[in-house]
Amino acid sequence: MAFTGAGVSVESGIPPFRGENSIWTKYDPVILDLTYFENYPEASWPVIKEIFYDFFGKARPNKAHEILARLEEEGIVKCIVTQNIDNLHQEAGSKEVYEFHGNSHHLVCLACGNSQTADEVDLTLPLKCSRCEGLVKPDFIFFGERIPETAYQNSLEAARKADVCLIIGSTGEVMPAAMIPREARRNGAVIIEINPEDSLFTREVTHIHLQGTAGAVFSELEKHLF
Ligand code: NAD
Repeated sequence: MAFTGAGVSVESGIPPFRGENSIWTKYDPVILDLTYFENYPEASWPVIKEIFYDFFGKARPNKAHEILARLEEEGIVKCIVTQNIDNLHQEAGSKEVYEFHGNSHHLVCLACGNSQTADEVDLTLPLKCSRCEGLVKPDFIFFGERIPETAYQNSLEAARKADVCLIIGSTGEVMPAAMIPREARRNGAVIIEINPEDSLFTREVTHIHLQGTAGAVFSELEKHLF
């Protein structure tokens, strides 16, 4: 299995949320607070649109997304548990993707649960449901929201079965997602981490640390794997 964080998409042009040049050095994270969003949709939606649709929307899969999809095709990688919401694993061709934090390409009505994809709607703001006029929200989790149950259960099951867990570009700071590689290790998996920096996983969970960017490491692996 593979477990991916924001780092796998950095070379697609999407910065991480924390650290230097990160998204939250430019924008106020309060826009992803559910109560704030519900009370001030006119203030939240334009910023959400700018970050997650105008900006994220331009990103394309990179070498790491592509090789992961190919590894699935070859039967080597069984599934990807991703914390990312950018849809880039699916765009690269990965099929078995468990989205721990949801997906920005889907929209959900907070009143009636009606679901639509972002391509289907005119992102005029703030978004109102075409069925009931309720407030529409991106279908990724905001601060304090629960992890989608099916993704959570599928991820745990994958972690319990995995022989090898690849961790790519994750700090290990976001809970409960960070439990997944730990669960894999507890159940006997070999843990291989790809990250230019050390993470919270590096000392306690990782067996093999390939210290480089996802693009550089996967370009090198490609020469030996196929
Ligand atoms: P994170 O836990 O996702 O960590 C980012 C990690 O990526 C860091 O450890 C960093 O060293 C590593 N990294 C940076 N460049 C890399 C590269 N080129 N190759 C490999 N690794 C690289 O931390 P976060 O950014 O604070 O994210 C918090 C949460 O928000 C996570 O759930 C994350 O997935 C989500 N998020 C998603 C996106 C996205 O959908 N693309 C973007 C930002 C954050």
